[in-house]
Amino acid sequence: METITTINPATEKKIKTYKRDSKEEALNKVEIANKAYLNWKNTSFEERSKLMHKLADIFDKKKNEYANLATEEMGKIISQSKKEIEKCALVCRYYADNIEELLADKIIETEAKKSYVTYQPLGVTLAVMPWNFPFYQVIRFAAPALMTGNTAVLKHASNVQGCAYALEDAFKEAGFPSGTFTNLNVTSKLIKPIIEDKNIVAVTLTGSEPAGRSVAKIAGENLKKTVLELGGSDAYIVLDDADLEKATDLATFGRLQNNGQTCIAAKRFIVLEGIYDDFLKLFTKKMQNAKLGNPTDEDAYFGPMARIDLRNEIHEQVEKTIKQGGKLVLGGKIPDRVGAFYPATILSELKPGMTAFDEELFGPVASVIKAKDEDEAIALANNSTFGLGSGVLTGNSERGEKIALQLEAGNSFVNKLVASDPRMPFGGIKNSGYGRELSSYGIKEFVNTKSIWID
Ligand code: NDP
Repeated sequence: METITTINPATEKKIKTYKRDSKEEALNKVEIANKAYLNWKNTSFEERSKLMHKLADIFDKKKNEYANLATEEMGKIISQSKKEIEKCALVCRYYADNIEELLADKIIETEAKKSYVTYQPLGVTLAVMPWNFPFYQVIRFAAPALMTGNTAVLKHASNVQGCAYALEDAFKEAGFPSGTFTNLNVTSKLIKPIIEDKNIVAVTLTGSEPAGRSVAKIAGENLKKTVLELGGSDAYIVLDDADLEKATDLATFGRLQNNGQTCIAAKRFIVLEGIYDDFLKLFTKKMQNAKLGNPTDEDAYFGPMARIDLRNEIHEQVEKTIKQGGKLVLGGKIPDRVGAFYPATILSELKPGMTAFDEELFGPVASVIKAKDEDEAIALANNSTFGLGSGVLTGNSERGEKIALQLEAGNSFVNKLVASDPRMPFGGIKNSGYGRELSSYGIKEFVNTKSIWID
């Protein structure tokens, strides 16, 4: 019997051991999800909304319990875990309240007596999800999926199985029929037969580029649609008219929130020559003052990374960059303490071709890059295989907007950190993936957009 043990990254202590689902057990759950779909697809928007509101209420009621679980399993500082649960409730309510409008039929004037587009569910969707927002990433997919009339099976990251089961229980407690949302506790080896199964109609994955490529390949061979939300190396251009206090506050929080492990975190800061030295000095001071602590401490600014192997990986990326000529301004040493801790780190003097410029740094490490003018800053920002988020920090929002329109990314924000919002589409271009989540765009990724023509 295969098992998986979850580990607290702050203490390196075991939390709990779970039995893995065998291939037969997993495929049986997928079949049950399909049976559930055959009834669920006939329920009204009103019925689905009622249950989605109940789910939101459960997130309110159990906020502390769920937040503690996320913090224990992946090390997020407790105040941010609570915010994550609040956002889950927000997304549930958004889809519960707006579903009629989001999926309303669209009349198209033609020579027919009547012609329109209608949106119908497809079946069982598989979600392969990461550990960095262990509740929110799942809800961002599952709330719209269930509201359309699809059912969902989840393959969550191995290190957050407690969160995965808590989510399954929450859906049950809200009254969703058995089989509408199911956790599959499987290793990634079983993803292939699951995608190949006739009952799976589509797959969404949030995670690393290699995981995305592997899942997209299998899904492609089986002609099943995918949405991929992969990594990013988001560039923030700091213009010479930016308010440096505000810019460095935003940079510090942007780089350290969620312990540096956010796909849309600010990772590369491209700073115009005229303010480069002042920016770097103030940013270094703020990063140095940000308290690295136990994630259960309310006063910690950031905590450990999610796993020891991920911490070691980022340290290797830092060391490689230094060997390539990058300058270590702050941090860069593994602390002598138990847990997957890594200090706030700043690398400067970076150029394309260096590891910290080219790769995603998924931890508390900021890359600071000098640009001689606006055009060079835009070229450096776009010199990336990724295209998820991006930003401009400036005292002139019109100037910021002009640059935002030229950045190669799915999201470009002026004077604000990129964040997902249920009312706006979210996703990337280039190697950051394709397809969109949230808003009216996300909910239509996994529906049959059907033309009806009455002559
Ligand atoms: P992974 O991409 O490996 O994990 C994300 C999910 O994909 C997990 O459920 C994982 O399962 C699953 N998975 C991994 N490999 C495969 C595969 N070949 N086929 C199917 N499913 C797979 O992320 P890691 O945890 O290893 O983190 C590594 C890097 O990924 C980070 O450094 C970061 O760059 C990126 N990442 C990006 C995220 C984002 O929000 N875009 C979130 C998390 C990571 P299991 O846990 O069982 O391996």
